Amino acid sequence: MAAPKCPSCRKAVALPPENKTFPFCSERCRTIDLGKWLGEEFRIPTKQVEEDEDGDGRPTPGDA
Ligand SMILES: [Zn+2]
Repeated sequence: MAAPKCPSCRKAVALPPENKTFPFCSERCRTIDLGKWLGEEFRIPTKQVEEDEDGDGRPTPGDA
């Protein structure tokens, strides 16, 4: 059986109940993953606004 890996740092993690932060290897990795997830939530509206402003079909300067 393959050991589960931390979704944040890809290190092998211990199983519960030994590991209270499963499936993460540590509290720190759990916080990092949560922050990443929230960061993407916040980035979605920003990206939509950029696409609306650039909706004239021309490529953004410096994007090519
Ligand atoms: Zn980790």
